[in-house]
Amino acid sequence: MVIHPKIRGFICTNAHPVGCAVHVQQQIDYIRKQPALDDAPKRVLVIGSSTGYGLASRITAAFGGGAKTLGVCFEKEPTEKRTGTAGWYNTAAFHEAAEKEGLYAHTINGDAFSDEIKEATIERIKEDLGKVDLVIYSLASPKRKDPVTGEVYSSTLKPVGQAYTTKTYDTDRDEVKEISLEPATDDEIQNTVKVMGGEDWELWIAALHDAGVLAENCKTTAYTYIGKQLTWPIYGHATIGRAKEDLDRAAAALRARYSDLNLEAYVSSLKALVTQASSAIPVMPLYISLIYGVMKEEGTHEGCIEQIYRLFTEGLYAEDPELDEAGRLRMDAKETNEATQAKVTALWNQITQDNFHELADYEGYHADFLKLFGFGLDEVDYDADVDPDVRW
Ligand code: NAD
Repeated sequence: MVIHPKIRGFICTNAHPVGCAVHVQQQIDYIRKQPALDDAPKRVLVIGSSTGYGLASRITAAFGGGAKTLGVCFEKEPTEKRTGTAGWYNTAAFHEAAEKEGLYAHTINGDAFSDEIKEATIERIKEDLGKVDLVIYSLASPKRKDPVTGEVYSSTLKPVGQAYTTKTYDTDRDEVKEISLEPATDDEIQNTVKVMGGEDWELWIAALHDAGVLAENCKTTAYTYIGKQLTWPIYGHATIGRAKEDLDRAAAALRARYSDLNLEAYVSSLKALVTQASSAIPVMPLYISLIYGVMKEEGTHEGCIEQIYRLFTEGLYAEDPELDEAGRLRMDAKETNEATQAKVTALWNQITQDNFHELADYEGYHADFLKLFGFGLDEVDYDADVDPDVRW
């Protein structure tokens, strides 16, 4: 099969197995060039392990710290007519690289919100790892089926309190335009909290604890985005922000509930980056294109793997990590500091259809977007016939 990108709106509906493997290898190579992790956890569970920040966490733990990793993700396998999803191919590439290195890797593909997948994960830990020392919670999903009631909740991306009109960039039409978003209803807010808040993270930790598979001094973290004024109306102070606030509640509850094991539970705030999840959020493609340009000029730009390596070294496994007023680990200061935000805000105020490509780093944004699906990489011959039927 010859595979070229099929882009529909903010998503690419296919993926390139060789390109995804190159993208995974680039992240492994980055980690190999860094000093090895001190006090690295040796048995790591990553929930949401196949793309974005979760994949970077798995690569950091395995190739930076020599950890055995168990991943949970929700990806589509290839069929005769369709390629697998990027996360499918990333996982296959990760397994191949881990095997070569003699590192244990196992991945469970299914709905992490369900009891069945939690049980299957616990069984696998008991059989292969005994216990886990670190649980990364990196799910990004538009929907969640409640395991008790069976009700399916959908998240929404809307402002809270009042309507909001702002600029956005329509990646499909190459158009800078205004969008107006109506405020969320109470139900929409609650549903978003149900999907992306802390409840499922708490259910995971409770299930792992009750099964006796959390090691003493185990750490766990869930990822958040806090951002600043430009993104607050659609993110930080919006429906998704409400869900993320619920993670702070959950982290405090987890620390209190599992003090018997001295469980350390953190919310970690990471920078805005192109991932499958963030490209779906209105305003973010424009904001990310601008912040990429500014941070590249400042020499402070980082991708998922750089962020997560720092999270491990300066946050999770640092002797005395700096926490913010809510007890969170902050890896986003290079983005959210006043000086950098002032530059982005100045650009934001000037941006129009005519100057967009000159003022914003859309090229960088788009290249990163394509890379998420294994496209646009110099190392790959995209006219070559490749076998999409890759397994792990
Ligand atoms: P992503 O879309 O790249 O990854 C999501 C992962 O979740 C994938 O591995 C996917 O397979 C898995 N997943 C989704 N639904 C699932 C389900 N039902 N069962 C099992 N697995 C499922 O997203 P990302 O951007 O890496 O986001 C991960 C976390 O990081 C999220 O909490 C997000 O809010 C946070 N974050 C993202 C950004 C950003 O800019 N991208 C910034 C800060 C924080």
